[in-house]
Amino acid sequence: MPATERALDVHAIRKDFPILSREIYGKPLAYLDNTATTQKPVAVLNAVDDFYRQYNANVHRGVYRMAEEATAKYEAARATVARFLNARSAKEIVFTRGTTESINLVALSWGRKFVGEGDVIVATEMEHHSNMVPWQMLAQEKGATLRYIPVDGNGRLDLSSLDSLLEDRVRLLTVAHMANAIGTINPVEELIRRAHAVGAKVLIDGAQSVPHFGADVRALDCDFLAFSGHKMLAPTGIGALYAKREHLESMPPLFGGGEMIREVKLTGTTWNEVPFKFEAGTMNIGDAIGLAAAIEYLEALGMDAVSRHDMELTVPALEGLRSIPGVRIVGPGDFEHRGGIVSFTIDGIHAHDVSAVLDREGIAVRAGHHCTMPLHAKFGIAASTRASFYVYNLPEEVDRLIAGVRKAKQVFA
Ligand code: PMP
Repeated sequence: MPATERALDVHAIRKDFPILSREIYGKPLAYLDNTATTQKPVAVLNAVDDFYRQYNANVHRGVYRMAEEATAKYEAARATVARFLNARSAKEIVFTRGTTESINLVALSWGRKFVGEGDVIVATEMEHHSNMVPWQMLAQEKGATLRYIPVDGNGRLDLSSLDSLLEDRVRLLTVAHMANAIGTINPVEELIRRAHAVGAKVLIDGAQSVPHFGADVRALDCDFLAFSGHKMLAPTGIGALYAKREHLESMPPLFGGGEMIREVKLTGTTWNEVPFKFEAGTMNIGDAIGLAAAIEYLEALGMDAVSRHDMELTVPALEGLRSIPGVRIVGPGDFEHRGGIVSFTIDGIHAHDVSAVLDREGIAVRAGHHCTMPLHAKFGIAASTRASFYVYNLPEEVDRLIAGVRKAKQVFA
């Protein structure tokens, strides 16, 4: 069987994740909050541990052996990210703390320079707050306007008004490839094509898509792509911004300090080359090395197998939940163009209560608005319960989720 068609060996994978042997209230942990953050395999823990035990030194500075080793590993991590995203060059990868920082970097550097009074930024109603608030702040600062592509009742973008949304002075279209609250996979290829046709740049929020099906930034032809390591088996505090080199060249640095300079005089400073002009001060070296280890782990599994596995759990989860009276799926109820995120409400029971009952069963899910208050308002709900899957989740855990939801209904009947 070709590697791309092989199913994941989940029992073998689980052995790589020490935390999964934990029990919660005497029950095996079923970790179904992968949209929020993922667990870490031994390969990642060891990569970070090795850095601190074996060759911890600051990068790009020392001319001694360990500093050279640390620099080589840090830059190799950048090259690994570039390869994973199919960027043209590692120079197009800026390390950041994660998606939020990457988006803010674009807003505060590119946006402040290229978005002016009367200009327009187009986002969607299903964006995470971190792909909405920075643009609201920029629009307010610049006297620009923010428009939103509407979401229909099935949790899909309604593109019927896109032509008019893209009229007049649109500088940027920004969209999540996969929506964190409801799992919709958006038609980013079409959005990029249509935005480029009117001269707008496009930012892809890849926080959910990159961990689950990767990205090919050259094929997409997006201008910017942001993602977080911690949602793809890597440590917290590390992520990256991909940007076309010409954009990075034209953007001013955001932070001033060490490393981002070429020459500093008392009278002024010239900038280092890209991407270093955006990496002021000592970066998160160990966790960048951990991110590379996480990418290598995912590549060994194969991203096709990862996304297929997501759907092998999502289909029975959706079917099982839908069969329970009073349970309503929030977002796409069909199986096309959606990923391994299942949000739902239960009539008459608050999402926090559902989550508390599931917790007692050892099942970790998320309850709340999932940083998408406007989307929840659009659906007329304050909160939902969200289960989300990744490479180490088992079909039995979906069964336990459904049994737990039935139990929640009984407890609060
Ligand atoms: N965008 C999306 C779609 C997300 O799911 C998240 C995290 N939930 C973010 C942005 C923000 O990511 P981070 O908190 O890692 O910066």
